[in-house]
Amino acid sequence: MNKILSSAVVLCFAGLGSVAFAGNEANPDAIELAPLPMPVEFKSDMDKPVAFDSATTVTVDCPDAAAADWLSAHFAEWYGKDAPKVVRGSAGLTLKDGEEAYAASSEAGGVKVSARTLAGVRWAAYSIRQLAIAKRGTFKTEGRILPAFSMSDAPMLPFRCVHLCWFPEIRKEQIERAIRLAALLKFNYVILESWGMYKSERHPWWSWPDAKMTKDEVRRLAAIGRDLGVTLIPQIPAYGHAAAARACTQKHSVLDLHPEYEPLYEPGGWNWCLTNPETQRVLRDLIVEMLEDFGHPPYIHLGCDEAQPPTCPECRKRPYGELVCEHITNLAAFTKQHGARAMIWHDMMLDRDDPRWEGFVKCGSKLTATLADNLPKDVIVCDWQYSYKNMKEARKDWPTIAHFREKGFDVVGCPWMNFNAMKPMADFLAKVGGFGMIETTWHHLRGKDWVNMYRRASSAAWGTPARGATPHCDTEFATLLRMVGHDMKTTDYLDTGHLNYQVPPGWWVDNN
Ligand SMILES: [Zn+2]
Repeated sequence: MNKILSSAVVLCFAGLGSVAFAGNEANPDAIELAPLPMPVEFKSDMDKPVAFDSATTVTVDCPDAAAADWLSAHFAEWYGKDAPKVVRGSAGLTLKDGEEAYAASSEAGGVKVSARTLAGVRWAAYSIRQLAIAKRGTFKTEGRILPAFSMSDAPMLPFRCVHLCWFPEIRKEQIERAIRLAALLKFNYVILESWGMYKSERHPWWSWPDAKMTKDEVRRLAAIGRDLGVTLIPQIPAYGHAAAARACTQKHSVLDLHPEYEPLYEPGGWNWCLTNPETQRVLRDLIVEMLEDFGHPPYIHLGCDEAQPPTCPECRKRPYGELVCEHITNLAAFTKQHGARAMIWHDMMLDRDDPRWEGFVKCGSKLTATLADNLPKDVIVCDWQYSYKNMKEARKDWPTIAHFREKGFDVVGCPWMNFNAMKPMADFLAKVGGFGMIETTWHHLRGKDWVNMYRRASSAAWGTPARGATPHCDTEFATLLRMVGHDMKTTDYLDTGHLNYQVPPGWWVDNN
């Protein structure tokens, strides 16, 4: 067994194309490691296992003195009395370029880790953790073993992000699991969008009753993310989507229960009323409060997608493109003063009648498309291209991403569940100097969609092909999810696996 591990594998990213991880087809039950440690070199041999227990010394070669302490603390958390000893020293391993690069090796003499930053040491630790299995032949775990291996690894895109939606229906444990799992898959940012769930102190009316995103909870999650290597970024829908609820439900997180705040919104409630100075004041208050709770991250997402034409008499008086541009520009300048670059969705910046964008997501008009010329260039454009007509479509060219790059913006690509397009999109972003990738998850953060979104997007952003599916149980994802559960000390059945229930509650009553 484990032919993948027993045969030395040396893969180069250049020219790899769509080649699956060598040997995966013949032996799909082999290695539980994602994203694959590439581009580059990964050689391993499970037929020559190396002890990984309290007698093992792990040498850490990193200029950041805190890295060895971080590793030691996390080995203690993961392995208890069997944790290997961590020492600082020279590892003599060759690193790829970049701040997040790492190299690691395991042989009879011990384990070595080399990196330029704590971030690199974290990624090395997560790769090692995925490769370490319990020693064979005992009743309970008595130390672990690693294959003999050497690897040198680095991400392709610098900004690798998951976008999470905190709907009222989502358990707080699920959000924490999603953040922790993102880290293990080597994403380095998580955007957390409040769907009426952020409990503001200045504007408590802005959320549903009993909102779970309290200050304490947000600060706790941000601290967990910081420790694990993912920076949490807040999101506020600052233009359209102001209902902060899925359009198909017709709910409104404010107006359904607090009609007195009607002047802040366009009639109907979908857009904020941009001519009302109270709108800017409220949004600024929320921005300040959120940035503080999130621990002053370097970015904030302002939404701005799928807005509608104005219907109130004040907003209709001015050219709407000009008004929207002024609104976003003012907010972006304000967030910058508070240390955070603004990110926005791209779709209102493209005229839906422009033939150049045929087949691509575009929701704007001629008026709002002027944003592409007039917004300040330090706003990061998040180009979501989901291929609504054919989610299985594989594209190679991304004219909208190229368009925003030509206009001088940093651009992030967002493929959601357009799985075949993820790798080509990531490669295109790397080619044109794109900023990174955001994997949006929306209301699909469960089941196989969750598995595919996380696995495939993490691999694409890292610059590696996702491994092929295993025949019965996707143990690669399951193993990672189980690690998350152990780290959270999960005791509730609902917080295991990628679905709450194996069969729907009531199923036995209804069907037997
Ligand atoms: Zn208005």
